[in-house]
Amino acid sequence: MIRLEQLHEWLEKANEKIQNNKEFLTQLDQAIGDGDHGINMSRGFKEAINKIRASTYHDIGSFFQDVSMVFIAKVGGASGPLYGTAFMKAAMALKGKSVLTIQELAFALKESVSGIKMRGNAQAGEKTMLDVWEPVVDYLASSGDSFPWQEVRRISLEQMEHTRQMEARKGRAAYLGSRSVGHLDPGSVSSAYLFEALAETMEGSEAT
Ligand SMILES: [Mg+2]
Repeated sequence: MIRLEQLHEWLEKANEKIQNNKEFLTQLDQAIGDGDHGINMSRGFKEAINKIRASTYHDIGSFFQDVSMVFIAKVGGASGPLYGTAFMKAAMALKGKSVLTIQELAFALKESVSGIKMRGNAQAGEKTMLDVWEPVVDYLASSGDSFPWQEVRRISLEQMEHTRQMEARKGRAAYLGSRSVGHLDPGSVSSAYLFEALAETMEGSEAT
């Protein structure tokens, strides 16, 4: 079973990766967007970590709800509302739970994917964060409660890399049309950090 402290550890690891790669995310977004993704993600994760460190949780729904509110209330750009929606949908799916199976987590993250699609009016293949979220969550949902977490990391990085050859259809990058080809989508990179962090957390624990 997945415990609350593991979910906390997941977000701590994700925060480390985001802070360590803040400049890289900025550079990626400067190339095809407005250059705010590093700052937005850095602020969002920092504030979310401050919030969850300062609180005690018994309900996984409340935990993700707090994370969601930080992104919605304090993070600008497109990424604040999109990540905020993702965590909000997970919170709603996990309300009242104090431990999770991997399948329950996968179900909640499927709700997150639906939320991102609706909020961003986007589909996979449009060079966005969904190009990492959807295949990774589909893998989790289809893999039962025992599988190699390295596979989650591999799929995340592979799908992130795959956005390089895509033409952007959403956000500012879409104005560049074919000139967006050859650049990684910044949201897919921050999303890959999130799922790498999940894989590392679960690999390093007795989750299943
Ligand atoms: Mg931006």
